Amino acid sequence: MINITLPDGSVKQFAKGSTAMDVAKSISEGLARNVLAAKVNGEVWDATRPINSDATLTLLTWNDKDGQSTLWHSSAHLMAEALEALYPGIKFWVGPPVEHGFYYDVDLGGKTISPEDFKKIEDKMLELARQSNPYIRKEMSKAEAVKYFTEKNDEYKLDILNGLEDGNITFYEQGKFTDLCRGPHIPHTGMIKAVKIMSIAGAYWKGDEKNKQLTRVYGTSFMKQKDLTDYLNMLEEAKKRDHRKLGKELEIFTFDDDVGPGLPLWLPNGAAIIECLEKLAKDTELRAGYQRVRTPHLAKENMYKTSGHLPYYEDSMFPPMVMDGEKYYLKAMNCPHHHKIYATLNPSYRDLPVRLAEYGTCYRYEQSGELFGLMRVRALQMNDAHIYCTEDQFAQEFRAVNDMYLKYFKIFGIEKYVMRFSTHSPEKLGKKYVNEPALWKKTEDMVRQVLIDSNIPYVEVPDEGAFYGPKIDVQVWSAIGREFTLATNQVDFAVPARFGLTFRNANNELETPICIHRAPLGTHERFIGFLLEHYAGNFPVWLTPKQVYILPISEKYNDYAKKVLSLLNFYDIRALIDERNEKIGKKIRDTELKKVPYMLILGEKEAADNSVSVRMHGEGDKGSMSIEAFGKMIQDEIKGILG
Ligand SMILES: [Zn+2]
Ligand SMILES: [Zn+2]
Repeated sequence: MINITLPDGSVKQFAKGSTAMDVAKSISEGLARNVLAAKVNGEVWDATRPINSDATLTLLTWNDKDGQSTLWHSSAHLMAEALEALYPGIKFWVGPPVEHGFYYDVDLGGKTISPEDFKKIEDKMLELARQSNPYIRKEMSKAEAVKYFTEKNDEYKLDILNGLEDGNITFYEQGKFTDLCRGPHIPHTGMIKAVKIMSIAGAYWKGDEKNKQLTRVYGTSFMKQKDLTDYLNMLEEAKKRDHRKLGKELEIFTFDDDVGPGLPLWLPNGAAIIECLEKLAKDTELRAGYQRVRTPHLAKENMYKTSGHLPYYEDSMFPPMVMDGEKYYLKAMNCPHHHKIYATLNPSYRDLPVRLAEYGTCYRYEQSGELFGLMRVRALQMNDAHIYCTEDQFAQEFRAVNDMYLKYFKIFGIEKYVMRFSTHSPEKLGKKYVNEPALWKKTEDMVRQVLIDSNIPYVEVPDEGAFYGPKIDVQVWSAIGREFTLATNQVDFAVPARFGLTFRNANNELETPICIHRAPLGTHERFIGFLLEHYAGNFPVWLTPKQVYILPISEKYNDYAKKVLSLLNFYDIRALIDERNEKIGKKIRDTELKKVPYMLILGEKEAADNSVSVRMHGEGDKGSMSIEAFGKMIQDEIKGILG
């Protein structure tokens, strides 16, 4: 018998050679039908592979990222089987899972695939899927494998085999298709219920343009038809909500060749949104006991050597400039500057925690091929702060940071979020991770406890922490269900020591503080990019650049419009008058396109009784009211969101 330890810590006994599928069946048949793979001692395995000694086991379903990629990798094999049936003689290079599906690089031997062929490939895949063929794992000697692919005349797989060591070569077979593959795979093809070929592209063999060009066929697949339909609808909606398209239409930001790639210019509407976000952040941080600081955009080489940015992070920094014989770098992070301010403040334990906040502008060298609208840029303004505290204060400070996140999620209507909690790996202490086993354990336990206590959904990812402490990446989903990584929090118990940061404790001894790096609103660039998609450009009234357009129905009422505008200013409402000599119908249509939340229509009746006729974006006529009532209504609406 062997002992199988499940994620809840319970231990069950099974016969030697039992599989994860056997374990699933012992729990429930329903679960077994959904098991795609399993994590055995931390490694992803076939659910049908015999386990021969004691092990920890996590069953993986569609709800796990590793479950999804196993389904997609298996779908790449299924697509290969379909392609081999449709295009005899086809040769295969590699076929991995990717973010939302899979691809396979293929050599069609002079034939071509075009989008008209996609349906044919999908139909063939579904036909083969319905056969519910098992994915069978076979261990091979290198000689046998070489013989197989030599007979098949497959130079690509022979090339892969060349780089593999004898003794750990495996084949996977399903239906009529056999592939050289490390696996793992799902139990059988019948679990793939919906498939879609997404696109084709050229791809040079091994990414080298001197090599032959192969065809890369992209696809995706799901366990339910409805999931595929939802995914395709989401892509369609995302196209309409693309932040680059909306950012142009709503005049939020632009790029200019003379300024340079990845360096966004914020237009007045974009700057207005930024002002609102910074006001929210500053008010929130003031109430939470933060102090604001300001730091220059560059510093001497030596500081980045102390921080470790040089040489480890040099590739991501702008090249240095030389002045007075000294090298200066644009800052890629605000931390080192804040550490210097902390050192100057020279606090005692009574002054801790010290919380230093700055909307700091950082510069990062992203490859030009990586630049993408506001999502990947070279200049970024970060909602940054560093909290310096004692070990005893850490849990409370970390909890307060989480509360701030939750407050923001509510304000922005972010309903789905998860914190990815990356921890260290004890075997790699002193190599990948700073050698402080007790501090690692203590801070990780505290972080985990806070996440549990605050009821925040989180996933724990071992062996992905930062060098100097555990890390929390905050993933959010926009209103249409697309995932964004917004911000990263880090616990840092190594760098403060490198900077010689200390405080005097109650016994008058010098101690090193722990530092929490946090940026709940991420960068303006990524966050506004996210919000554009999230709101489809319909910003809520507190955040929208122009809250009200005043539309006089003819020039006769322009004077009354000016009076209304000055009264609205009194209520801190951002408004403007459309004084164009246009028909009111056209003015309304133009304003609708700008997604302005409120329009006030002014004519004879309104001028006579000091009122405004209100139209709401997307909802139409809201009737007439006094200017005061309207001003109060907007103020209440904003208060309802911001508190
Ligand atoms: Zn494979
Ligand atoms: Zn930092």
